[in-house]
Amino acid sequence: MLAQPGKDVRVLAGGQSLIAALNLRLSQPDLLVDISRVVDWKGIGQTSAGLTIGALTTHAQIACSAHVRGHVPLLALAAPFIAHPAIRNSGTLGGSVCLADPAAEWPACLIALGATMRLERSDGMRKIPALNFFRGLYETALEPGEILTGVELPAREPDEIHLFDEFARRPGDFAIAGLAMSVRFEKARIAKLNLGFLGVGSTPLSAPRLAQACMGLSAAEAGLLAKQTLAEEIEPSSDHHASADYRVHLAQVLMGRLLTRAAQQMEQAS
Ligand SMILES: Cc1cc2nc3c(=O)[nH]c(=O)nc-3n(C[C@H](O)[C@H](O)[C@H](O)COP(=O)(O)OP(=O)(O)OC[C@H]3O[C@@H](n4cnc5c(N)ncnc54)[C@H](O)[C@@H]3O)c2cc1C
Repeated sequence: MLAQPGKDVRVLAGGQSLIAALNLRLSQPDLLVDISRVVDWKGIGQTSAGLTIGALTTHAQIACSAHVRGHVPLLALAAPFIAHPAIRNSGTLGGSVCLADPAAEWPACLIALGATMRLERSDGMRKIPALNFFRGLYETALEPGEILTGVELPAREPDEIHLFDEFARRPGDFAIAGLAMSVRFEKARIAKLNLGFLGVGSTPLSAPRLAQACMGLSAAEAGLLAKQTLAEEIEPSSDHHASADYRVHLAQVLMGRLLTRAAQQMEQAS
């Protein structure tokens, strides 16, 4: 059904964004395909390489999964920031990442975790890194007739610390700025750092130059470096919620705050 040439065919997952868009006539597809009961694309599974999460797994299922808390705690930390319980009960991981709202939590988490996206259509399957999936504002690498069926998450390294925080006007609102972080220290120096900023560009951003420059620094030094150089790597725009400068400021504060928390967790663990 998705492969019909010349037709605007949309899949319906949790409906938490698409139904609103249909109601407002922002989206008027020729055909709507309800995939919400496809069991193969639901659930969370453990593999030797890490975890797989089906595209139709809801935000709430991810939030309370013991597998997620044990292997990718970043997702459990971020889930409570997504909307409200009613939306988390219906909205899906796949719906969120395919919508590709730059202020959404899951896309930023997936790039910070180095996730792989599993894309399928009638003539085959391909996998691409999350970093290459988000192409622009509400734009992804999905091709016509293609559907996201799941994501693969690598196993957490020993001593890897996951952190998430964001700033929003009210609990449940989309974030003005946020940060997903995965960090590992060796002798109190950063040995691995993956970042996923949300709300500060047209896609989630990994700020790779800053992450690389933080190698070998202490948490405090890296926080200072973020203050000095982060503005070169993120490209927020101003809107009625916040100015671009304010978003940069928030991103710098969040980075310093998460690094401080990470250092505290490292000290408690040692
Ligand atoms: C009031 C409100 C507040 C919200 N706040 C937040 C928030 O703070 N943070 C946040 O991240 N989100 C927020 N959301 C959005 C919410 O997370 C949605 O659940 C999510 O964006 C869409 O998921 P869904 O399963 O409902 O997808 P749907 O609405 O069913 O679909 C969304 C889009 O993705 C496409 N799609 C869905 N699944 C797939 C798939 N497997 N493969 C290919 N394409 C697919 C659909 O065709 C459609 O274009 C909010 C929503 C509302 C209504």
